[in-house]
Amino acid sequence: MSSRRIRQHPGENVTILVKCKCGYLAINRTSHTPGNPNRKFFRCRKWNPKQSENPCDFFVWQDIQVAIEKKKQKYKVLISGLKMDNTRFREENFSLSKWNNELQELLAQLLVGNLQLENKNCTEQDLCTPMKEELDMIRARLGFVESVVLGLMLQRVIHVHLQLQSFV
Ligand SMILES: [Zn+2]
Repeated sequence: MSSRRIRQHPGENVTILVKCKCGYLAINRTSHTPGNPNRKFFRCRKWNPKQSENPCDFFVWQDIQVAIEKKKQKYKVLISGLKMDNTRFREENFSLSKWNNELQELLAQLLVGNLQLENKNCTEQDLCTPMKEELDMIRARLGFVESVVLGLMLQRVIHVHLQLQSFV
């Protein structure tokens, strides 16, 4: 071994593979310095303690690298979850646009009905009552469609919020 302070432990388990900046697979060693006794690290295989200027100065403690990998894994899970959400939201958008079309139609019917009612002479109860009833039905349907659309939007907001919250 070229350095007294850094010894190789080939038998020790290395669960992660680390590539250094220059593209080589980094080597795994254990530090025996007083400041970091038995702490594992990765270092470029080109690094040479005898040289003051090294071609690659890549160095990372194994515990820090493991923490980074764990974080990366968490991000991957989050991203794949968000991608799935995106697909689902696209499908939901399709049904939302159908609901929206119905909303627009109902609103148009309501406007026309209101205008007709205003133009009629409503002293004749027999004529106006069925028209009012029809308008009430349209209003009820409108309320239902609005609540469905709002419910879907709210579900979405809560779902995304919870996902992001669980990540932080
Ligand atoms: Zn390197």
